[in-house]
Amino acid sequence: MENLGRFDVIVIGAGVMGSSTAYQAAKRGQKTLLVEQFDFLHYRGSSHGESRTIRATYPEPYYVPMAIESEKLWRDAESEIGYKVYFKAQQLDLGPVENSSLVALIANCEKHSLNHQILNRHRAKEYFTGKIELPDDWTAAVTELGGVLKPTKAVAMFQALAIKHGAALKDKTEIIDLVTDKHRGGVLVSSRSGETFWGKKCVVTAGAWVSKLIQKVSNGATILPIQPIETNVFYWKIKEGHEHDYTIESGFPSFASYGEPYIYGTPALEYPDLIKVAVHGGRECDPNKRTWKPPASGTEGITMVIGHLKEWIKSTFGNGVDWEDGPVISQSCLYSMTPDEDYIIDFLGGGFNEDVVVAGGFSGHGFKMAPLVGRILVDMATGGKAAAEQLDEVIKHFKLGRFKDNPRGNVKEFEDQVRLK
Ligand SMILES: Cc1cc2nc3c(=O)[nH]c(=O)nc-3n(C[C@H](O)[C@H](O)[C@H](O)COP(=O)(O)OP(=O)(O)OC[C@H]3O[C@@H](n4cnc5c(N)ncnc54)[C@H](O)[C@@H]3O)c2cc1C
Repeated sequence: MENLGRFDVIVIGAGVMGSSTAYQAAKRGQKTLLVEQFDFLHYRGSSHGESRTIRATYPEPYYVPMAIESEKLWRDAESEIGYKVYFKAQQLDLGPVENSSLVALIANCEKHSLNHQILNRHRAKEYFTGKIELPDDWTAAVTELGGVLKPTKAVAMFQALAIKHGAALKDKTEIIDLVTDKHRGGVLVSSRSGETFWGKKCVVTAGAWVSKLIQKVSNGATILPIQPIETNVFYWKIKEGHEHDYTIESGFPSFASYGEPYIYGTPALEYPDLIKVAVHGGRECDPNKRTWKPPASGTEGITMVIGHLKEWIKSTFGNGVDWEDGPVISQSCLYSMTPDEDYIIDFLGGGFNEDVVVAGGFSGHGFKMAPLVGRILVDMATGGKAAAEQLDEVIKHFKLGRFKDNPRGNVKEFEDQVRLK
């Protein structure tokens, strides 16, 4: 085996979480290595593509301050790189008045003093100048912190910033093992092609592959309850003459619709006359054996999904979007779901003690938090238990131990948002 160098922090997996972590580590003067199994900026994980929503509205109270802090960190990174990856808009959350997730979300707006307005059918129509319709028994919250992050551009930004601060980046390097270095301490990290790297600390941000890797390196002792899900994003054609209506410039928000099913989307941005509207759901998969397409049309899953979306677009956007002909673009992506849809951020423990930090299970809502997650992971890697204690208010919800007593994890009083089919 060829030993290729010694590092303070080795980060495994160069999606948005790993790239943000490498940036944060290098910025603090840590000698940092970021390794990726595929090409950088590949389309086989969760962090590629054209748009992700940023919002502070959550049914779980603990995500609200995280999103607020993360927004600031997105701005800081943008200032440092000198271009934009974050396109601010308002966020609209809507749904049946009695929907327990929406009720909790609105309560959190109040609890955290998020600047928000509650709209009924009439006020929503007025506020969005006829572009958005609600059923009579629905309600909506509009908040200021919302909009679109550009994922591939953002990951490239973190990688460029990591390089600027002295990090080494290496792609086409699949890590297959981690072992403690019994002589020097720290961790020996080895790749499929026979290279080894030594890291004082190691951070594993391997997305949908994280369970497999952790199971292997812990000799089966640690099983992360993370299920990879293949999901599809859909773009719909905006009718001629209405293109401007659905842009951020015309005041159109990023949005999430609670209820059955949970539907989300972003204003027209990446394709000027298309709008993204998709269902928050998907089907279990092996990340190395993807179908790359929605299940064949005519099968129950896709007919239902497209049917729900058509119905929703027709009743919510009225005449401006062509729902009749179905979506014009479908893109495949991976979610990494935990049973409670909360993240996993913890030390691996076992023989590794605090030398290996693991982050995964971002459950389809991690992108917005990447700058903060990166900062937390570096705090934990470099500061160990003492740093984790300081961060406990944030990370206590994300500990692996929560699945020991209850395989469903954190107990919630509202419904799951992601639907499997
Ligand atoms: C369609 C879709 C819509 C979404 N919408 C939103 C949204 O609106 N808002 C939001 O906040 N979030 C959203 N998310 C979720 C968000 O995109 C993810 O939470 C986030 O991208 C996860 O990043 P990651 O770095 O953990 O995973 P990934 O991006 O998958 O990165 C993990 C990386 O690790 C690499 N890797 C794995 N194993 C190894 C190994 N053994 N050796 C070396 N490298 C390895 C992989 O190749 C991969 O590049 C969405 C996700 C999808 C799919």
